Amino acid sequence: MLTVLVLGGTSEARALAARLAGQPGVRVISSLAGRVRDPAIPAGEVRVGGFGGAAGLADWTRAEGVDAVVDATHPFAETISAHAVAACARTGLPLLRLTRPGWQPQPGDDWHQVGSLAEAATILPSLGQRVFLTTGRQGLSAFAAPPSAAPPSAAPPSAAPPSAAPPSAAPPSAALAGLWFLIRCVDPPSGAMPANREVLLARGPYTRDAEHALMRRFAIDVLVTKNSGGSLTEGKLAAARDLGIPVVVVRRPDPSAAPSTYGVDDAVSWVRGVGPGS
Ligand code: NAP
Repeated sequence: MLTVLVLGGTSEARALAARLAGQPGVRVISSLAGRVRDPAIPAGEVRVGGFGGAAGLADWTRAEGVDAVVDATHPFAETISAHAVAACARTGLPLLRLTRPGWQPQPGDDWHQVGSLAEAATILPSLGQRVFLTTGRQGLSAFAAPPSAAPPSAAPPSAAPPSAAPPSAAPPSAALAGLWFLIRCVDPPSGAMPANREVLLARGPYTRDAEHALMRRFAIDVLVTKNSGGSLTEGKLAAARDLGIPVVVVRRPDPSAAPSTYGVDDAVSWVRGVGPGS
């Protein structure tokens, strides 16, 4: 029996688990962080929660008799990817990174690529007033203006037309406080976040048409996204292109040091090439 640990939380991880669960002689265990209240459950065995760092992950793989690890986590989940590299170096287990290509700007796009959420927040006021924030519920504090900043705009969130105001010359924190945000995430956010906001709880996939209608309904004039890649959530990019809306794109962190592939088929072949106990 070949025991494979799939570090998951993505559609690719679920696709791989579904393929491996159907292979004779393969035991697949998917690991989820436990961040989402009602996660999509992969085929095969599933465990939930952190391992306690790279050392904890190494211990866990030994205890479970794992023969190979596939890191199929999200491109922005850089801590667990680094832990997978360190744990497999410690145990000598083979490790493959399964990820998805990043999105690329298309003709007609107005992308502003930044290195972090904080940098995204800094440039936002120069790009628009009504922000569609799709970076997830973690890191929203980057867009919260400090309490000393100017009070938020009194404009009703869902009825105001796109602002024709010129880019703000106010200091960044005060300019940020004047923005309105549509925050979309799977579970309710908590902690510091923009005061002037509406939270939309939703889970993809999202079509281009639905994203177009949503952005028009809320008079969105700037979109913020991580460069997550994948087809399930790229409709917002096409909709922003259609509407002539600028997009602030957070670049990916450095890739994992492990050998990597974009293909689930490749990952299945790689697993087949790993002998039990190798
Ligand atoms: P992260 O910052 O890289 O990891 C933080 C800690 O969470 C890790 O040190 C680990 O805890 C635990 N963890 C993360 N992924 C895990 C997994 N698959 N199984 C067990 N423990 C895990 O991770 P993150 O960015 O918060 O993402 C958490 C999960 O959500 C990942 O599985 C990822 O695939 C998924 N996800 C992330 C994003 C995103 O934008 N970051 C988007 C969609 C889905 P210990 O150190 O205790 O082991």
